[in-house]
Amino acid sequence: MVRVKDVHKYFGNLHVLRGVSLDVKPSDVCVILGPSGSGKSTLLRCINQLEEISAGRIFVEGELQGYREENGRLYDLPDKAIARQRSRIGMVFQRFNLFPHRTALENVMEAPLRVKKIPKKKAEALGLELLDRVGLLERAGHYPSQLSGGQQQRVAIARALAMEPDVMLFDEPTSALDPELVGEVLGVIKDLASSGMTMVVVTHEVGFAREVADEVVFMDDGIIVERGSPTQVIDNSQERRTQEFFSKVL
Ligand code: ATP
Ligand code: MG
Repeated sequence: MVRVKDVHKYFGNLHVLRGVSLDVKPSDVCVILGPSGSGKSTLLRCINQLEEISAGRIFVEGELQGYREENGRLYDLPDKAIARQRSRIGMVFQRFNLFPHRTALENVMEAPLRVKKIPKKKAEALGLELLDRVGLLERAGHYPSQLSGGQQQRVAIARALAMEPDVMLFDEPTSALDPELVGEVLGVIKDLASSGMTMVVVTHEVGFAREVADEVVFMDDGIIVERGSPTQVIDNSQERRTQEFFSKVL
């Protein structure tokens, strides 16, 4: 479903991803853990083409992202094709960045209306259904400023789902939240996982990783140091760097 093959990313001279490979199967949840600056956000941003990769290949549903390959050479895809690829990947960030002057429902309806150009009645029905799914039906008419951080983040998840993505990427979706609001957002992400959504989740919530991850990936300094089941990586890690990390966070 998501296939990252030997991806490198430079920012100027800074070699931030140094040969990262990942293979996330349909309906699997891959949780990425690792210290600050290890390249986790950059990897997610490369997967949904917010950043251009310096080398390697990324495939989503078997389709090469960003390029057309012919006789071993890569040709840039036109913007329209890139927009289509990006619309199949939902992303939720640490900061909710909802449109402040739109209600919860309008935020969720925005992309289906503008990008997919579906009729307003249909977008509204879809929006209400998604708000219901994240437990916020009764808040449909509220503006972001009238919602708690956890509620805003759940609207952001509903908004990402509105494009009916094949894959959802989460970048520390709970780290900007007050501790008492973390659970409700993780709950929504867990439900999504049980519904069969393919997901890549960057988080510091080790408990969530244990409970939900099919695969845990530990990144440090632009490489994947260790990967495996939660038990393998979190409790029985083989690498010193992984052990050090978990001895600090657990
Ligand atoms: P955190 O846990 O703090 O979110 P991270 O693992 O997500 O960290 P990244 O944000 O991917 O780390 O950053 C990896 C490295 O790339 C860091 O050294 C960072 O300073 C650098 N970096 C990220 N984005 C850019 C950019 N746009 N320009 C230059 N350097 C960048
Ligand atoms: Mg990050």
